[in-house]
Amino acid sequence: MAFQDYEDIGFGITRIDSGMIRPGLAALYLLESNGECALVETGTHNSIPAIMKLLEQRGIEVGQVRYVIPTHVHLDHAGGVGGLMQVLPNATLLVHPKGARHMIDPAKLKAGAMAVYGEAYFAEIYGDVIAVDSQRVEQMQDGDTVLLGARTLTFYDTPGHARHHFCIHDSLSSGIFTGDTFGLAYPALATENGPFIIPTTTPVQFDPDALKHSIDRLLALKPQRMFLTHYGMVEQPEPLRQSLLAQIDDYLGIVERAKQQPVDQQESYLIAQLTEYTFKRARDHGCRLAQAQLQSVLGMDMQLNGQGLAVWMQSQTG
Ligand SMILES: [Zn+2]
Repeated sequence: MAFQDYEDIGFGITRIDSGMIRPGLAALYLLESNGECALVETGTHNSIPAIMKLLEQRGIEVGQVRYVIPTHVHLDHAGGVGGLMQVLPNATLLVHPKGARHMIDPAKLKAGAMAVYGEAYFAEIYGDVIAVDSQRVEQMQDGDTVLLGARTLTFYDTPGHARHHFCIHDSLSSGIFTGDTFGLAYPALATENGPFIIPTTTPVQFDPDALKHSIDRLLALKPQRMFLTHYGMVEQPEPLRQSLLAQIDDYLGIVERAKQQPVDQQESYLIAQLTEYTFKRARDHGCRLAQAQLQSVLGMDMQLNGQGLAVWMQSQTG
């Protein structure tokens, strides 16, 4: 199946490709019900033209978009928030209480990303990050709900990937928008055995116990499907839950071995071990991509996961 920038996935939900770095890396979702719309995730500032194009194609007026809902404030999820709020006059930003101040004053988020990527690459990937008027921000506490047409959206505090992360249960699809809490499953790695899922342990707030608890909390809601930001809808989440929990435990085993390495080699050791471990799992899952293709799909995540584990490991030893 050819890759599509937009895909109608049923239940009044359209998956939109953010266009960040490569197709199929980061998604966002348009929800429609009885003439009211919401966006879950925004992609980056550079994703805004694609979003506006879809609204136009669907004959949706900008005033019909009631909510902009990033799952957390990492820039692949929330980078487009400020720019979108400028062009969506009736939208309210619904955000985790620990993320709200970074949307109102994004200077820290911007500086953090620039420090990692450098100014030129920052501009290429993220474009810009624009502040949101605090009057238009609503903080969603655990268990809060909003109505969108015939849907009820319920917010769940889900730390583990980041402390400023919530997930959103949607009554109409019996699905959950999981951000990065329920891992990553790139369509390119799916096989006859189903999606190939891996956890994401990005710096700097990865917390394995919190992440496992959050994953279990999501499954306790008995969802039929999950909408992953990276990438797309997956169904039958229970075996995926088991896979994620097993991998998080295996990651901690790798961390134990990393502690035996010289301090200046621990991070590179973690990245190499995670890569070997994950590629073997992909093969066992029936994935037949060449090694170089696996590297191009997963390499960046292996690096981020290794860096996140290193940060967590240091926080454990003080
Ligand atoms: Zn992400």
